[in-house]
Amino acid sequence: MSTRHERRRYRHEASGALLTYLVDIEDPLDAHALLQRAARYWCDGLSTPPHRECVTCGVRMPGKKHVGALLLTTPAIIKPTTASVVGVCRECWLVRDLSLEAIERKATEVLQAVVPNGRFEPHQDTRR
Ligand SMILES: [Zn+2]
Repeated sequence: MSTRHERRRYRHEASGALLTYLVDIEDPLDAHALLQRAARYWCDGLSTPPHRECVTCGVRMPGKKHVGALLLTTPAIIKPTTASVVGVCRECWLVRDLSLEAIERKATEVLQAVVPNGRFEPHQDTRR
């Protein structure tokens, strides 16, 4: 139980250009207006076709009860105004217990399509 609690929310910097947040579907995201708005908008679209699919296994999620977590991505700037959202089904999140790394890896191709000029680069520290 404790591991589930600990991994409730992740924040991860991907290749210096993007921030990703992996959050439980029940996370209210009260401190993150942008993420909260993006998550709500995404959830509002769940019941209308085309149905959203789990980013890691591809199962259809025709309602919020099928969703386990959301992977939100924003540009790594001071005040981002856009956030992309992909969903992870309950099976992948609660039963298969996929790691952030596994989910991010699967989500990369999806994110590349939605992030303007989005391009995942090999992680390297170019700041000196
Ligand atoms: Zn899944």
